[in-house]
Amino acid sequence: MRMESNLQKAAEFLKQADKIEILSHQYPDGDTIGSAAALCRALRKMGKQAQIYCNDPFPGKFQYMMEGLTPQSFESQAVVAVDIADTQLLGPRMMQYATRVDWCIDHHGSNTHYAQNWVVDPTAAATTEIIARLIVEMGVEIDREIAACIYTGITTDTGCFRYTNATPATYRIAADMMEKGVDAAYINRVMFDTKSRARLELERRVLDTMAFYFQGQCAVIYVTKRMMKESGASDDDMDGLASLPRQVEGVKVGITMREKEDGSFKISLRSNNGINASEICSKFGGGGHPAAAGCVLHGSVEEARQSIVQAVSLVLGEIQ
Ligand code: 5GP
Ligand code: MN
Repeated sequence: MRMESNLQKAAEFLKQADKIEILSHQYPDGDTIGSAAALCRALRKMGKQAQIYCNDPFPGKFQYMMEGLTPQSFESQAVVAVDIADTQLLGPRMMQYATRVDWCIDHHGSNTHYAQNWVVDPTAAATTEIIARLIVEMGVEIDREIAACIYTGITTDTGCFRYTNATPATYRIAADMMEKGVDAAYINRVMFDTKSRARLELERRVLDTMAFYFQGQCAVIYVTKRMMKESGASDDDMDGLASLPRQVEGVKVGITMREKEDGSFKISLRSNNGINASEICSKFGGGGHPAAAGCVLHGSVEEARQSIVQAVSLVLGEIQ
């Protein structure tokens, strides 16, 4: 199978390489951080120099994965991107890497194959699932620290094992990581049962923006820069916000619009009932997974909302 042979090739490449830069996507989540940290730890265990780069700082709740990974400075000889489907997801400060990625390790079916080489497995619930296989292929023992990174990617990308992407293989890898000593209950509490006061203040405001379309089948919320400021929320407080609209009974498509620095809107789309989120977002140059995808829209809140709701209406077969 092409994917497996690519995994072996990626392992061979990394065994030969040194001075490796690992890239995570902008607005980093548990999977891109877990993938980067696990790979960085494995490469350093092999005696190599490796360093992680990202457009944005890693939120505090993910910092345990970076513990002990002291910064290294070197002239890069190889670049690996993890969990990054498209160069635009590198973020504006990382654009110089767009044409320099040697290997991309990813699980998005919408991956644009921008790298020289890639391992893309859309059946993997998280990129860390693939990273776990890659590390084994490189002949490195997965220790407790690496296992915690891999487990984190899996639990965050499956919403704590609730989404359709969690397969028997996903549970098996997670179980293997627990056997390596991962404190799964602790990680899940931090990821899913802990909120800052600022986040709660933000949710209060965000819920006020919720609008319903097509007899309640589509729900849209938005977050402006002003709402962030008023509630005292930072990027650290944004994780999982996009799951709010889909939680409402009867909603098949939940949309979250987040105003970016430049005034454009980052759209997060979540779907139920087999509606293809990635397909909807691809109309606007975005992509993602069948049930979770994103894109960027320009214009005012109303204009951006109108565009995305219009695209949803076509899929739901509704007249707007
Ligand atoms: P989120 O809504 O959590 O930012 O992203 C959901 C999924 O869609 C993630 O797997 C993410 O990589 C993907 N995604 C989000 N925004 C974009 C985008 O603008 N372009 C592409 N290709 N994928 C995106
Ligand atoms: Mn992922």
